[in-house]
Amino acid sequence: MLYLDIDAHHGDGVQYAFEEDPDVMTISFHESGRFLFPGTGFTEDAGRGSGRGYSVNLPLAPGSSDDIYLEAFDALVPPLARAFRPGIILTQDGCDAHWSDPLSHLALTLAGYRRLFQRQHDLAHELTGGRWLALGGGGYQAYTVVPRAWTILLGVMAERQLDERLPESWRQLAAKYESGPLPDFLSREEVPAAAPGAYAQARAAAREGIAAIKGSVFKLTGA
Ligand SMILES: [Zn+2]
Repeated sequence: MLYLDIDAHHGDGVQYAFEEDPDVMTISFHESGRFLFPGTGFTEDAGRGSGRGYSVNLPLAPGSSDDIYLEAFDALVPPLARAFRPGIILTQDGCDAHWSDPLSHLALTLAGYRRLFQRQHDLAHELTGGRWLALGGGGYQAYTVVPRAWTILLGVMAERQLDERLPESWRQLAAKYESGPLPDFLSREEVPAAAPGAYAQARAAAREGIAAIKGSVFKLTGA
């Protein structure tokens, strides 16, 4: 089984349950433990015993945005998955890496999530005959982000083109619980500009992590 976790937090529980098991590869992309709970999941944390090389951790810097995630995904996940040859892909698609999430400091957009979900879908068709189990996870904008992100996920899974305009019935229901403004669209959103220098720093940190993983885990697993 390949377990891929894009929740903002390190997938520590699942990794530590399977870190000695070479039949389960865990890959976690998360905000670096230097900035976010639980403070673990650095690139050196790569599994133990016969499971060494089968725990993969990419810590990301605050401000990591769509193209940083997509570059990291493309550099790491397909080559590791192709070498590992999983029977099933399990994903933890927590949406707390969204730019507006109150707990994390990452910068994924809903459009970025859609592209990450599509890559998961493509990989499942390439490697596991479509066997893909997707789970929710974190996400602390319960009305403005979570239902949109996971509706996009379900749309990608079901290969359905969904309307961009959110149904009025949903907006009325959500308005009972959310006092702030509600979105009009499924994925269209106004994204604040990144602070100057933050993007370049986040990209450099991600590339450093990618290089570290290529220099260690790739060798251990034959990727
Ligand atoms: Zn989380």
